[in-house]
Amino acid sequence: MFSFDDITGGSDGIFIVVALVIIIAAILLVLMVVGFRYKWQKYNISREERLMREVAGRRRIRVSDKNEVLERDNYTCQICGISKDYLDSLCEGLGDYLLLEVDHIQSVSQGGTGDDIDNLQCLCWRCNRKKGGYKTNEEVRRLIDYGIDYLDQD
Ligand SMILES: [Zn+2]
Repeated sequence: MFSFDDITGGSDGIFIVVALVIIIAAILLVLMVVGFRYKWQKYNISREERLMREVAGRRRIRVSDKNEVLERDNYTCQICGISKDYLDSLCEGLGDYLLLEVDHIQSVSQGGTGDDIDNLQCLCWRCNRKKGGYKTNEEVRRLIDYGIDYLDQD
């Protein structure tokens, strides 16, 4: 009777240890599965998703490049020629209201990239909207000559 109790007590202790090991192993297994699924999802992105990311990468322009382009083009729109200096000459401080943008000369949709500073130019926002993704500076200038506003396009 006494020895029977002793054995029962001993096997209880082993049972607890075995249960703990199983629980820890289960937790580790769950963590591994979750980690693997996360990695799989990262690599198993669709073709469209990869293309979108690639385009987003080429669209990106570094802030330092942006400033360099604006300095190089002397804060002047390369299509219509409006500039900060011109507006400031009309009225002190008016140039600050000119919204200048850095444009991809060859658009991202046509394979251009924002990494090449020679593919970037300073445009006012109106000319940039007119230009869109498919027109050249010359084509936009012709639209302006004909008096066609960007709102008439597309
Ligand atoms: Zn312009």
